[in-house]
Amino acid sequence: MSKTLQAIRGMNDILPEQTPTWRYLENTLATLLDGYGYKEIRLPVLEFTELFARGIGEGTDVVDKEMYTFLDRNAESLTLRPEGTAGCVRAVLEHGLTGGGQVQKLWYAGPMYRYEKPQKGRYRQFHQVGVEVFNLPGPDIDAELIVLTARLWQKLGLAGSVTLQLNSLGSSEARAVYRDALVAYLQERFEQLDEDSQRRLTTNPLRILDSKNAQTQALLVGAPTLHDYLDEESRVHFEGLKARLDALGIGYEINPKLVRGLDYYGRTVFEWVTDKLGSQGTVCAGGRYDGLISQFGGKPTPGVGFAMGVERLVLLLETLELVPAALHSPADLYLCAFGEPAELAALTLAERLRDAMPGLRLVVNAGAGSFKSQFKKADKSGARFALILGEDELATRVVGCKPLRDDSEQQTIAWDALAQHLATCLAQA
Ligand code: ATP
Ligand code: MG
Repeated sequence: MSKTLQAIRGMNDILPEQTPTWRYLENTLATLLDGYGYKEIRLPVLEFTELFARGIGEGTDVVDKEMYTFLDRNAESLTLRPEGTAGCVRAVLEHGLTGGGQVQKLWYAGPMYRYEKPQKGRYRQFHQVGVEVFNLPGPDIDAELIVLTARLWQKLGLAGSVTLQLNSLGSSEARAVYRDALVAYLQERFEQLDEDSQRRLTTNPLRILDSKNAQTQALLVGAPTLHDYLDEESRVHFEGLKARLDALGIGYEINPKLVRGLDYYGRTVFEWVTDKLGSQGTVCAGGRYDGLISQFGGKPTPGVGFAMGVERLVLLLETLELVPAALHSPADLYLCAFGEPAELAALTLAERLRDAMPGLRLVVNAGAGSFKSQFKKADKSGARFALILGEDELATRVVGCKPLRDDSEQQTIAWDALAQHLATCLAQA
């Protein structure tokens, strides 16, 4: 017996009953980003593996354990993108978009791939909406990224369900000094660290701060904190960001353990977190990466951005029942036709109605069928009215207009008056 074909574990189908929520989220975001002057960029899903090895860095979970990497037919090593920043930076450099200090405010959306252990809120194909800004070094733009996400939560009704965590990583020099202090502290407690953290002590010690292991977290309570090592410029930058958030009335919690364990991240890092999704609580994460572009061989260029996890936001909207009911609204009209001549006339009539009524949701019966079966389909479609075109109606150029959601009488309407009549009927709640 042949095995039933199934989707790959952790790669989800997004079914018709869910797509309205996705579109709602995507459209809300696109409109919002438009309103702040951000431009969309579309990037390939596949890139050379080297891009991520250089752009995300060895010693990170993503590069070491989570990438979908394979050789193509030409023996080139390619990788399904695990995130969007590296590809965006590549594109910007390749097309000279940041040359001469040009400011770029960009966003992208699409699927990302990571070989992780699938669970609620964590998948192997997932979707991000990402924003990247180039050539703006100040805290004003960091604040803008945060305020626009805060506005998104407001629009979606999520403002009370997410909180902002904030930290500054300082300059790479300051971080190097701090790293030594942290390593010295943890080295003395090496045996008590979890296995991952022991490994990271040499590869990527700052990432240990982010460990999900309870015993390691307990050990970290007495560890030196990054905050005490901040350089003066980074401190001023951080104060500038906080002053802006305070002026906007955006609350935040300083979390000294919030890190991105990569050298080219510096200064601002932030995360929006919810307690409504269990352990997969981060819905949006971002930070400043002024060192990344030079890592790719470009001129030193300030960069800052964030990425949000679309699945987690969809889950959150569903969990909190914040999906507007109107999103799932069914068809307005279902057009039934009986007999070949009426079917032909119905086609033309339907197209005329679509011309006259932009946005009309009209389902034309397909597959013929008896009176009974067409009405059943009309009812199931959720439409508010069935339009009926049989031999008699065809002869006199009228249609029957039958309300499906209340007991009011069926009416007979001339074709020429139909659009007007329907517009009036549909406008009534
Ligand atoms: P986590 O700590 O949850 O693994 P991360 O630090 O790996 O997150 P980022 O690389 O910062 O995540 O990605 C930004 C956002 O993308 C995350 O905050 C999350 O909302 C979402 N995300 C990341 N990985 C996944 C995944 N495997 N499935 C679903 N969403 C994800
Ligand atoms: Mg991860």
